[in-house]
Amino acid sequence: AKSDKVRVRFAPSPTGNLHVGGARTALFNWLYARKTGGKFILRIEDTDTARSTRASEEAMIRDLKWLGLDWDEGPDVGGGCGPYRQSERTDIYKAQVDKLVAAGKAYPCFCTDEELEAMKKEAEEKKLPPIYRGKWATATAEEVEEAKAKGLPYCYRFRVPSNQDIRINDLIRGEVTWNTDTLGDFVVLRSNGMPVYNFCVAVDDALMGITHVLRAEEHLPNTLRQMLIYQALGFPVPQFGHVSLILAPDKSKLSKRHGATSVGEFRNQGYLAPAMINFLSLLGWNDGTEQEIFSVEELTTKFGLERITKSAAVFDKVKLGWMNGQH
Ligand code: GLU
Repeated sequence: AKSDKVRVRFAPSPTGNLHVGGARTALFNWLYARKTGGKFILRIEDTDTARSTRASEEAMIRDLKWLGLDWDEGPDVGGGCGPYRQSERTDIYKAQVDKLVAAGKAYPCFCTDEELEAMKKEAEEKKLPPIYRGKWATATAEEVEEAKAKGLPYCYRFRVPSNQDIRINDLIRGEVTWNTDTLGDFVVLRSNGMPVYNFCVAVDDALMGITHVLRAEEHLPNTLRQMLIYQALGFPVPQFGHVSLILAPDKSKLSKRHGATSVGEFRNQGYLAPAMINFLSLLGWNDGTEQEIFSVEELTTKFGLERITKSAAVFDKVKLGWMNGQH
């Protein structure tokens, strides 16, 4: 049945170049789709209009194409499919916010920045977590009508259920549990009509039928909000796999001072795409043997989620150079 098919995605924010970390995430998803005969989807997460650029999106796509990481579906752009873009899906997110509101699972909040700031201060003083526990959660219909009539700006907040344990069984990290009391009622739709990042991600993953969310570890904390959104909208929950960080050889966070870290830089330096793929595949995965040289073909059969490592991967450019000579 179609529903058993693996559906994975790579969801970059177009705010810069495609770095090795992003490329590794894209590769793992792509390999898993190719191995299982599933689908690989490219979704551009460009709701942050201040930081997203079309130039960055184009550069990332150029780098993905160079690596050979092709995607399988998306809006028809004449002679092929384009990537999905969150900026073109605002109506879809708004319709889901409406559903939450109709079910009483989200509510309008008219708090001003000053009020929110004051609440934050008060929480700090009382040593409580800085989370929204404001009055609009319990406002009457009349109070809401009155505020709307005054033309006050408002956002929509998600009503977080109190004291619930939310658990995932992460394919890489194992069991992870959060308690909802660590979280305030968070904004899902801003007063300017823009949905927030976590809401778009959860709605898209659900509506796109994503079966496995493989992404960087840094996104693990977002999973709590996303789980609550799945739950509230009655969406099936995908499998999560949060892939460990990539560190520099000195075990510090990989950054510009370690030299080239983006795919484009390596391409410009003359590295070959198959060597790059080989190198990226071993950043947090191995096939259980000592084998280090893999063709792309081989990887599409050997790759599996069971052997993604929990420990951080080390970015060793000497190895990349050596692999480049072998391809
Ligand atoms: N847009 C996020 C990023 O570029 C990825 C979010 C996700 O994979 O859920 O880091």
